[in-house]
Amino acid sequence: MDFSLTDEQQMIREAARQFADSELKPAAAELDKTGNRELLLGKLKQLAELGFMGINIDPDFGGTGAGTLAFSLAITELARGCASTATTTSVTNMVAEVIQAVGSDEHKNKYLPKLCSGEYAAGSFCLTEPGSGSDAAAMRTRALKEGDEYVLNGSKLFISSAEFAGIFVVWAVTDPDAPKGKGISCFLVEAGTPGLVIGRAEEKMGQKASVTNEVAFDNCRIPAANLLGEENKGFRIAAGELAGGRIGIGSLALGIGLEALDCARAYLQEREQFGKPLAHFQGLQWQLADRYTEMEAARLLLMQAAWQKDNGMPFGPAASMAKLFATEKANEACYVALQMHGGVGYTREYPLERMARDVRITTIYEGTSEIQRLIIARHLLDGVH
Ligand SMILES: Cc1cc2nc3c(=O)[nH]c(=O)nc-3n(C[C@H](O)[C@H](O)[C@H](O)COP(=O)(O)OP(=O)(O)OC[C@H]3O[C@@H](n4cnc5c(N)ncnc54)[C@H](O)[C@@H]3O)c2cc1C
Repeated sequence: MDFSLTDEQQMIREAARQFADSELKPAAAELDKTGNRELLLGKLKQLAELGFMGINIDPDFGGTGAGTLAFSLAITELARGCASTATTTSVTNMVAEVIQAVGSDEHKNKYLPKLCSGEYAAGSFCLTEPGSGSDAAAMRTRALKEGDEYVLNGSKLFISSAEFAGIFVVWAVTDPDAPKGKGISCFLVEAGTPGLVIGRAEEKMGQKASVTNEVAFDNCRIPAANLLGEENKGFRIAAGELAGGRIGIGSLALGIGLEALDCARAYLQEREQFGKPLAHFQGLQWQLADRYTEMEAARLLLMQAAWQKDNGMPFGPAASMAKLFATEKANEACYVALQMHGGVGYTREYPLERMARDVRITTIYEGTSEIQRLIIARHLLDGVH
């Protein structure tokens, strides 16, 4: 297998790395501490101008058209700088991909240029509800067809970027009598539509600058033309697009894990105890070797899933394996990297405590580790549920 990157992929990775070093790393601590919205929005706009909001979107619609592998490389580099910014970028790319995958020409022409150019600061993906997280098909938000409109009622929970998103991809039940998962449809809802109510932002453990809101639909009327794909066939859109999003979240976790380990590698060489640098203790050397090996394995799993997606192959189980492994191992990497810093790792003087908080959510959102195992096992044990 040829693992070498194309010139374009290398260029995108380099551009993301430079942006992370010059723009994100210096801002990450403030974003974490204050959640400074203007600062975040400024970074998102710059990222859009550099082509990072539609990495896998056709250039005809304003995207970069560079593919999933380039997307994965870019998100890893951005996450090295600031996980909050990388999450917002990853979810916005996923929203654009939903529109590209199942939207009509009108949808694509209307919304993709706005997402890719940064005219919309972000896109939101509205699936989770208070009563349905892992079991997303149990959602209760309703969409009732009335003439040439749908009327949406219900509420969504934990919606990334809802406060400043320009467009929302929303799942709702259109046939409550259908078997589970068969009566759900997917819609586009523009920000500012009457009845679309953005609720409070969650107070979170990490990724504090990436906003996570409740979203309610209170007799929210949208044109029937805002249906994405076919009526009652929306749940499979969610499943397919989440698989792509998981490559993004795995890549993001990899970036945080690698950055934490790089900090630890430097610290072990500068900090002395018992008369020599910590790097001389074999117990620490072996831990470092094991964690970097795991990060490399995660990188390869992510590249494989991205490559399968780019080549039109089934990639769901590979994306789940990559997300499961990358996010679990990145959490371990951050834990070990903080431990290697001793007491200072626990203080805000160093970025380790932020990384350890930021990485924690990656095993939870876009499908928990348990749900990834369920998807992988279903693939392995065809017919057993
Ligand atoms: C910061 C943040 C951002 C988010 N962004 C978005 C977003 O933009 N859009 C969106 O739609 N959602 C978003 N989410 C929601 C996220 O995807 C869900 O929180 C996640 O899917 C888990 O759902 P839950 O929280 O309801 O947990 P639950 O489903 O209640 O699960 C609780 C626990 O039970 C386990 N569990 C559940 N079912 C099984 C099973 N069958 N077997 C074994 N274990 C099981 C889970 O793995 C978990 O450990 C976000 C969440 C957070 C915290």
